[in-house]
Amino acid sequence: MNNKHRYILEKSSKKNYCPDCGKRRFVRYIDTNTGEYLPGHYGRCDRESNCSYHINPYTDGYAKLIEEQKQGKYSGSGKTSKPVYQPKLTPKPEPEFIPIDILKQTLQDYDKNVFLQNSLSRVLFPFEVKDVEKVVSLYYLGTIKVGYRAGAVTFPFIDKNRNIRAIQVKQFDQMNHTTGTDFLHSIIEKQHTQREEVLPDWLEAYNKNELKVSCLFGEHLLSKYPFNPVALVEAPKTAIYGTLYFGCPDN
Ligand SMILES: [Zn+2]
Repeated sequence: MNNKHRYILEKSSKKNYCPDCGKRRFVRYIDTNTGEYLPGHYGRCDRESNCSYHINPYTDGYAKLIEEQKQGKYSGSGKTSKPVYQPKLTPKPEPEFIPIDILKQTLQDYDKNVFLQNSLSRVLFPFEVKDVEKVVSLYYLGTIKVGYRAGAVTFPFIDKNRNIRAIQVKQFDQMNHTTGTDFLHSIIEKQHTQREEVLPDWLEAYNKNELKVSCLFGEHLLSKYPFNPVALVEAPKTAIYGTLYFGCPDN
């Protein structure tokens, strides 16, 4: 037996799309006996610090199984049968979402909401009440009632399955320029810490999420209005203004 590894990372500079991060920085394993690629999830992403995806055929049991098969441990249905192999891939855990009750508590006190009140009266070309009401209900905009962010608007990030992934809190001045940015889960955490209370279970779990903002603002509307034009903008405020200027989707 020789010491050379049968399965090696492809030596050419060819890069494939990484199954984890999606970037084209992925090097696949090849079988030097056959010259063929191993199944697509075997390989290494070269974004070492940002992704670090690496599934090695020697450490996850693939090489051993092929070897055992060669030695006849698996009779199968004849010599043409392909190895029966179940890769042990652990999927990324589902993120924890924000409970609907937390969102519901923000859907109030619109008379104290600086951003919405500005939109109705103080901006150069004020919007109509019925249009502002429509965007509030479309995007589930809300208000922070008390505390250091009192009067701020809330922009919930709701995904296409209607899970609440984050609730951004934005404080604006009289001209609707940003004066403060926060997240509702951090505000709730601070309140609990100040009162020396333990965090609710959902928040403990939520804090373990790798990303807090993990969907686009307004994503929940995609399935509701599949035939409407979609514009991508940077800030939720711009999305709201855009909807007000260009019109709410028709029912
Ligand atoms: Zn990657």
